[in-house]
Amino acid sequence: MLTDPITTIKGAGERVAEDLAALRIFTVEDLLYYFPYRYDVLEIKPISELIHEDKVTIEGRVLYEPSVTYYGKRKSRLTFTVETEGIAVKAVMFNRAFAKKQIKANAVVTLTGKWDAHRLQITVSNYKIGTMEKETEINPIYSLRGNLTNMKIKKLIRTALDQYGSMIEEFLPEQYLLEYKIPSRLKALETMHFPPSRAALKHARRRFTYEELLLFQLKMQLIRKRNREQTAGNAHRYDVEKVKQFIQSFPFSLTSAQSRSLHEILRDLRSPYRMNRLLQGDVGSGKTAVAAISLYAAVTAGKQGALMVPTEILAEQHYESLKNMFKDRAEIALLTGSIKGKKRKEILDRLLRQEIDIVIGTHALIQEEVFFHDLGLVIVDEQHRFGVDQRRALRDKGLHPDVLFMTATPIPRTLAITAFGDMDVSTIDEMPKGRKQVETYWAKENMFERVLKMIEKHVALGEQAYIICPLIEESDKLDIQNAVDLHQQLVQFFPPTINVGLMHGRLKQEEKEQVMSQFANNEIHVLVSTTVVEVGVNVPNATIMVVYDAERFGLSQLHQLRGRVGRGEKQSYCILIADPKGETGKERMRIMTETTNGFELSEQDLKLRGPGDFFGKKQSGLPEFKVADLVHDYRALETARKDAAEIVENRLLDNDSDFQLLKKRLEKDPALMDTLD
Ligand code: ADP
Ligand code: MG
Repeated sequence: MLTDPITTIKGAGERVAEDLAALRIFTVEDLLYYFPYRYDVLEIKPISELIHEDKVTIEGRVLYEPSVTYYGKRKSRLTFTVETEGIAVKAVMFNRAFAKKQIKANAVVTLTGKWDAHRLQITVSNYKIGTMEKETEINPIYSLRGNLTNMKIKKLIRTALDQYGSMIEEFLPEQYLLEYKIPSRLKALETMHFPPSRAALKHARRRFTYEELLLFQLKMQLIRKRNREQTAGNAHRYDVEKVKQFIQSFPFSLTSAQSRSLHEILRDLRSPYRMNRLLQGDVGSGKTAVAAISLYAAVTAGKQGALMVPTEILAEQHYESLKNMFKDRAEIALLTGSIKGKKRKEILDRLLRQEIDIVIGTHALIQEEVFFHDLGLVIVDEQHRFGVDQRRALRDKGLHPDVLFMTATPIPRTLAITAFGDMDVSTIDEMPKGRKQVETYWAKENMFERVLKMIEKHVALGEQAYIICPLIEESDKLDIQNAVDLHQQLVQFFPPTINVGLMHGRLKQEEKEQVMSQFANNEIHVLVSTTVVEVGVNVPNATIMVVYDAERFGLSQLHQLRGRVGRGEKQSYCILIADPKGETGKERMRIMTETTNGFELSEQDLKLRGPGDFFGKKQSGLPEFKVADLVHDYRALETARKDAAEIVENRLLDNDSDFQLLKKRLEKDPALMDTLD
């Protein structure tokens, strides 16, 4: 069986098995699916076409036997000369003195390595006695551990394929194989390890990409279906008229993207299924308005609503703006960590008696003593700032409440449908009309003084500015010192009429609040800050955002920061101070100056940083694929998603005999227990 332990393969003894275990290879199947992490493509080209410093392959005849020199501790250099196309090429090989025995004068050798066009020299990383068998040779390269060699792994896989190949079952229904011209599982496996040609390898990879993505999409969609059907939610019968009137009371009309998202949410509220939805939209796209209307709908259905945000300042700000919008339509309360004692107890009592309709708060909302009378709708803002457990804790305060997550970090579509495949996604991809775009500039460090002069001018006109210093770790002393020093410098630089404030993570909560409220009241004109978080507030009078060492931020973060300005009537500016060394850094700065669309930026960010980095290390929610690549395999992902939807919708796993092996394969996944019958 494919699940046999690896030691059933000839050549895999205890010691080999130990090394394989370090690579998480325990069974025959694990080994067969241990794919190379890259391929070396050997292709012989004429010397005149070789590019300096490229990895190249040449074929030649050995002119002189190698000589070996030793140096340092057990280090050696082996040199010899080969003749190719009538030219003498010098070959150098490090720490492989043993090769001297194999490389004899007059022998024909194939050498692969880095080419030095000036010296006509190759630094050999791989050699082979004899010529290449084919014009192009594709050699798989595996990650290794312990005493394993690439050769050994190849041998083991060959043996495994010979011993077990006949047991490898095709589980993709034939219609897909035909439609997408996908090679069978066995053939594709062989090709991954022993590629006969570039084209064959491409098709094999295509197969596994599709297979992985289809299985994953099926899993997500099955889970979504189960959650909807098996955990009955509430069919909220909200008051359509009242909701309409509420919307009409706004000083603006909703954008069509807002309306569309709102309808998707209201439809979920009405349905007996439990809502599990992500609302994404750029900073300032009007998510709060949509959230407020949704909360109101729940209230008119006789339920309570909760809005959880990551910081106290944000909670207060949302509280104020919601109170403003609602007037006396609903009873709204604020619950944060700094609300204590009698006041807190009173809020808890009133929540329990449903004298409060909507509560806005921080983590304080998920403490044990918080009880609702009938919580119908939970909204989590900036959802990525909360852990999975925290999000669940809030949801568990009600009986199957509907849940809406909001994020202002636009997530590239590929990641959204992967990481959030078990959620429905609504997107506000349109800004309210009449917004002025923030003008963005990239300045070198030596232009900082000119930037400060510009700030001085705008402050004289009554405007305000942020200056952000990067903060990598909340506890990073050095970074805080940066901000403290910069603050000092600016106090000296600006005339005394300009008040420079300082904000960083080491300040006490009260201190932060005080700085923030002084800034909001224009008592502080220029705010130096390390903390991105605490500036997540609305100060429409601030028109300049300067980001120091901007190359240390990702594109999405920079975009978030930029979203702090451009909130009022006046033209706003974002100035990125950076001297990036590498091309990627420069490219990032250029993209920022050219693009103000958060979704476009997030796609670019994904391309530049890769999916792992995009979400940061802490929580990615992304599955690890062996072959599929979320950046490049976008079309395959769409196809897999569409096919998965069709399979789930038409219940093909239950009704179609062609889908039984696929079903069997899915049943192996513990997350799908109780989902398939
Ligand atoms: P987000 O939460 O997505 O960052 P907000 O809901 O805070 O955005 O909206 C930003 C600002 O735009 C608020 O001042 C809000 O009143 C305003 N706004 C929201 N929707 C509209 C709209 N459709 N037309 C005009 N202004 C709007
Ligand atoms: Mg918001």
